[in-house]
Amino acid sequence: MNSNSKTPDRPEFAVLNGNVVPFSEAKISIMAPGLTFAAAVFEGLRAYWNPDQEQLYVFQMAEHLERLRYSMRVVELENPPSSDQFASQILTGLRANKCRSDTYIRVQSYVDDWGDMIATGPVGSYVVCRSRGRAPAFITGKHFAVSSWRRNADDASPPRIKANGNYLNSRLVGLEAKRNGYDGGIILNRDGSVSEGPGGCIFIVRKKQLITPPVTAGILESITRQTILDLARGLGLDAIERDIGRTELYLAHEGFYCGTGQEIVPVLSVDRKSLGTGEPGPLTRKLQDAYDRAVRGQDDTYKNCLTPVYDI
Ligand code: PMP
Repeated sequence: MNSNSKTPDRPEFAVLNGNVVPFSEAKISIMAPGLTFAAAVFEGLRAYWNPDQEQLYVFQMAEHLERLRYSMRVVELENPPSSDQFASQILTGLRANKCRSDTYIRVQSYVDDWGDMIATGPVGSYVVCRSRGRAPAFITGKHFAVSSWRRNADDASPPRIKANGNYLNSRLVGLEAKRNGYDGGIILNRDGSVSEGPGGCIFIVRKKQLITPPVTAGILESITRQTILDLARGLGLDAIERDIGRTELYLAHEGFYCGTGQEIVPVLSVDRKSLGTGEPGPLTRKLQDAYDRAVRGQDDTYKNCLTPVYDI
């Protein structure tokens, strides 16, 4: 069954292999190793609409494209588009669809045509842009459960890269959480420490300290996570990266889940145990505010992380 409530409106155009095509005509081979063997990596970016300036800004495009380059290198895609080419395709996709609201951008790179498990080419790519506003959970928060699934390990299917194959693990976590009546899952790694959620990183607050698992805990090296660490330190908060034990989730005063798509979602409870008062915490709210200002071009420190889409 399709998760219809979440099926977005189709954009008019996609950028397929560098060319603008009607979305309905953007097709790949049914035997593409990108599909048959998950020989595929991707990125998810956001662009924010600034109504005063009538301008759309892509947030941290260089960082996302750099991570895409790493992902493509690890899975050995042959002669993929360069970061500059992808950057220009993103702008082309946004302009072709006349995007003038907050937008989510998926950049996908994969082995196309027909090949075996270790085929490295021909590489296909696409950029799809779709309108995506802020999730209501940004305000309301979500209830989480620790998943019975463990995070795929760095020496098996490395979470550090944004590989499509890693999302099987995330999918199983998400399905289990939903089946059991939760909004989301938190995944422990093989050591039993917190890694992350299926599509975002985890922060907790204990004794006024902001804590997030290190990049060696089985997480994607999240761009939002790094932005939040920087913002928190800029605000004079004590923000550290260290392993988090499962029971620390229960003892946390507050917590949140973060990523480009989710932005910052307050964690209200874990395994039905409330974090603090069970309401979004004050530090979470402060960081949401700082994040919002950064992505919308209201914080000078982050102005150079914004790429304007339209000539003005
Ligand atoms: N972890 C996973 C598994 C994700 O899918 C995402 C979303 N890209 C994140 C973390 C957050 O990463 P970012 O902040 O770079 O979007």
